[in-house]
Amino acid sequence: MKKYLRYDERHRFAKEVKQKRCGKCRKWKVESDFYKKHRHKDGLAAWCKECANIGAAASAIKHKDNAFKNYYERMLSNGINPANDKHSVARKMVSTMSAMRKTDSKFDEKIL
Ligand SMILES: [Zn+2]
Repeated sequence: MKKYLRYDERHRFAKEVKQKRCGKCRKWKVESDFYKKHRHKDGLAAWCKECANIGAAASAIKHKDNAFKNYYERMLSNGINPANDKHSVARKMVSTMSAMRKTDSKFDEKIL
């Protein structure tokens, strides 16, 4: 059974810097390491950016006919270390999304 932490168990001040504990990796991180979620009590996502990105990559890989799944399988066939696979997909997703935002372009599988 998964244990959910109380609000005061997930937030603290360390050397006067506000920190939050990630609900996934359980590491203490500064607030800028979390995406904003305005509906949340603290305005931050429950998982740190790293865990959120890996979670998004993991769910993309699970879906059929997904560009990132194709990218992932291409990496596997190139002999990538499986321990790094989701991290690589997560990094690729983040860089692809931010490039799309910058250039205001639509997703194009060919850029992967
Ligand atoms: Zn985390």
